Amino acid sequence: MATERTLSIIKPDATKRNLTGKINAKFEDAGLRIVAQKRIQLTQDQAGKFYAVHAERPFFGELTEFMASGPVVVQVLEGEGAIAKNREVMGATNPADAAPGTIRAEFAESVGENSVHGSDAPDTAKEEIAFFFSGLELVG
Ligand code: ADP
Ligand code: MG
Repeated sequence: MATERTLSIIKPDATKRNLTGKINAKFEDAGLRIVAQKRIQLTQDQAGKFYAVHAERPFFGELTEFMASGPVVVQVLEGEGAIAKNREVMGATNPADAAPGTIRAEFAESVGENSVHGSDAPDTAKEEIAFFFSGLELVG
């Protein structure tokens, strides 16, 4: 399997509870390397642009409000099959369905406030990395 990069976000529910280090340990233990990382505060408008694909979903307003409710840590994870591996480490969207040991099983508060985002495919990973990072910020 090829070396890939994927976009990860540690969401406001997790930064508020000081869980960045514990979540990063899960990534690193799974063999994912954090090749870029920054803590930022999104506006609701910026969150809406990032999650534009969900604009018609009933939870869109709640989602963008939540994503702007506190700091997020945006990061690029690199490794063999990083996109799928990250999704595996994250666990299912709804923590009630997430496998034991996954980030969402251990830390998520609800289906909305679920601690992490991860890209779902190579094309979205590329777009989402470019949304937050310039090439100069990626240090493999
Ligand atoms: P994932 O983050 O696992 O890729 P989706 O792309 O389906 O999940 O949804 C994006 C985000 O929208 C979720 O991580 C979650 O924060 C929020 N979300 C999804 N479904 C719901 C829902 N039914 N109610 C509230 N928020 C939701
Ligand atoms: Mg998604």
